[in-house]
Amino acid sequence: MKNPTIGILGGGQLARMMALSGYPLGLEFVFFDPTEDACAGQVGELMVADYHNELALEEFCNKVDVVTLDFENVPVDALRFVEKKRPVFPDPNVLEVAQDRYNEKTFCLAHGIPTTEFEVINSRSELMFAAKKFDYDAILKTRKMGYDGKGQYRISDTESISHIPDDIFDVPLILERRIPFVREVSVMVVRGRDGEVKTWPLCENKHKNGILTTSMVPAKESELDQLTVEYATKLADSLNYVGVLVVEFFQTEDAVMVNEMAPRVHNSGHWSIEGSQTSQFENHLRAGLGLPLGDTGMFRAGSMAAMLNWIGAFPENVRAINEEQMFWHMYGKAPREGRKIGHSTILADNPQELHDRIVNLVKKLGVQL
Ligand code: ATP
Ligand code: MG
Repeated sequence: MKNPTIGILGGGQLARMMALSGYPLGLEFVFFDPTEDACAGQVGELMVADYHNELALEEFCNKVDVVTLDFENVPVDALRFVEKKRPVFPDPNVLEVAQDRYNEKTFCLAHGIPTTEFEVINSRSELMFAAKKFDYDAILKTRKMGYDGKGQYRISDTESISHIPDDIFDVPLILERRIPFVREVSVMVVRGRDGEVKTWPLCENKHKNGILTTSMVPAKESELDQLTVEYATKLADSLNYVGVLVVEFFQTEDAVMVNEMAPRVHNSGHWSIEGSQTSQFENHLRAGLGLPLGDTGMFRAGSMAAMLNWIGAFPENVRAINEEQMFWHMYGKAPREGRKIGHSTILADNPQELHDRIVNLVKKLGVQL
């Protein structure tokens, strides 16, 4: 029997970790990415071509049995082309929703799921008007192509609006009311081809300058948790989703609302490689192949995990540090300011142990979190 071959559109660290989790299952991988040094190419065959190159996409399809993605901004036209030749998960219709913040928010609202308050913006005068409505405490975002806080501008008064360059208005935008959240959490959902749904324990996430820095799992319990998980599950069902879907939420004192969703495996789920019975990567592949989904519980009942992102550069003595229950993941990417180049996961059996291990690690590395 031939091993199934998974084609992944996008060859970044998510594709790379998907492959590393799929090899033990006997799966094979081919990556497709417009950049020559895409880091997944270090662990499998990489086809380098533009997403609009149909000849290359056809060749890619001929090499694989099923297609998924590590990048939610793969042009929908390319996905529609691929879909005619090979099954694609998640469905391109999902990408149509998730690639545009306006579509994403209206989809949530249409299904009774709260989001941040927002206004569509097409000009500076519309921005002036909407900013006033949000009491000059808002965030202007490009509707498409945003990641790691890119394409976002904080609006705090009329002065900050005058500093926004004219060319920003060349692309569709939305303005969101800034939410004074108590915490940010994400729910990782996996949904199989047969509609079976599982969720991992809730992750609590911290960002710096719009970039995820740490995730802690399970998040401290709150009365809003059940609702948060219900919303994420409802989204997966309503989208008829196959694979891993991650939904980011803002929690305030008494409410929870969707920030955005990622129609793919997600940075806040990297802890699951060592911290869970089944990683997000493995379950994403299982879902897409129609295999039974793996257990999404912690690796040991009552255990905890923390994930620290390495952004821009690694600490000097990176390889020398080998702490108990600590795991390195280096993505094979060239260091560059603001770029995610790796992460570490730390496991523990209780909050105190986790805290101590993080403090110890940070001290040894001489870094600040
Ligand atoms: P990524 O895809 O990497 O998650 P992104 O560029 O799509 O990031 P968002 O998730 O929209 O960006 O925003 C990044 C972070 O900025 C959020 O996790 C949050 O910390 C902060 N942020 C964004 N929107 C708001 C808001 N309306 N109110 C308060 N904080 C916000
Ligand atoms: Mg986000």
